[in-house]
Amino acid sequence: MFDTAIAGSLPKPAWLAETEKLWPQWKAQGAELAQAKLDATLLWIKAQEDAGLSVIGDGEQSRQHFVHGFLEQIEGIDFEHKVEMGIRNDRYKAMVPQVVAPLKLKGRVHAAEARFLRAHTTRRIKFTLPGPLTIVDTVADRYYGDRRQLAFAFAELLNQEALALQADGVDVIQFDEPAFNVYMADAAEWGVQALERAAQGLSCKTAVHICYGYGIKANTDWKRTLGQEWRQYEQVFPALARSSIDQVSLECLHSHVPPELMALLKGKDVMVGVIDVASEEVETPEEVADTIARALQFVPREHLIACTNCGLAPMSRAVAEAKLAALAQGAALASQRLAGH
Ligand code: ZN
Repeated sequence: MFDTAIAGSLPKPAWLAETEKLWPQWKAQGAELAQAKLDATLLWIKAQEDAGLSVIGDGEQSRQHFVHGFLEQIEGIDFEHKVEMGIRNDRYKAMVPQVVAPLKLKGRVHAAEARFLRAHTTRRIKFTLPGPLTIVDTVADRYYGDRRQLAFAFAELLNQEALALQADGVDVIQFDEPAFNVYMADAAEWGVQALERAAQGLSCKTAVHICYGYGIKANTDWKRTLGQEWRQYEQVFPALARSSIDQVSLECLHSHVPPELMALLKGKDVMVGVIDVASEEVETPEEVADTIARALQFVPREHLIACTNCGLAPMSRAVAEAKLAALAQGAALASQRLAGH
């Protein structure tokens, strides 16, 4: 039986935040908001279990955005004076906070939702954190003056939180590094090292998610410029294969990634994206099983985990729920097919 997991985010219910938005506004404040976040987390734990997933996440219900959720708990970052910055090599503009002083964690970042997740499912749990290179690309630096140095400063703080998450009972800690597909040379030269620094000392499973982004227009427009074959992974996977990171999450279905690039991850668990997050159309279990079969040409079955291409945050709740079911049913079908041979 293949393991099944989501990349990370799930849509927020309409009573928690604005829907179908990547940077939604919360609908409550203070203690009411804190409770609403956990209520939404519980709802998605149940939905993932009902769908049949084997690894459960919190759906990132407690953070507004996958990078800024972490930054809000760091001293040395000025959130009061955000500036507009082109991110992911100017693919889109975002209002980002500024690094203005040496970085230091104010305390725990995700203790509440990680412990809540652990308390409400007996299945294995995965928790996501932004990766150092991607964080560096999502803040304005007014202090360090060097991307690599800044990445290692963030990596140290990520490591503190990751070790604490492990102590909370998290089974898989995943770092999200969409920027690895944009700054391939930096990723191979020092991005993977910074990632290893963030994962230092962890004995739970460690993972990295590298994608071509959410299914928003700026990303789908960008993907059209990448040509017939997307070979970005080719420049980063060899460094990851040599690294201490256990699992790699990548895009497969409807991407132009040549599937043979997965062979570069020899020895790693591969979370294969079998669910498209850029289309409202729900995959059939057959389609999911076919995608798994294609990946099995390059990934040994004991190393294959069926996953979504990226987060489902900006989608509608109904579509996301249907996609979770398709993911689990397709993975079950794929293992039945293997058993039949
Ligand atoms: Zn992603």
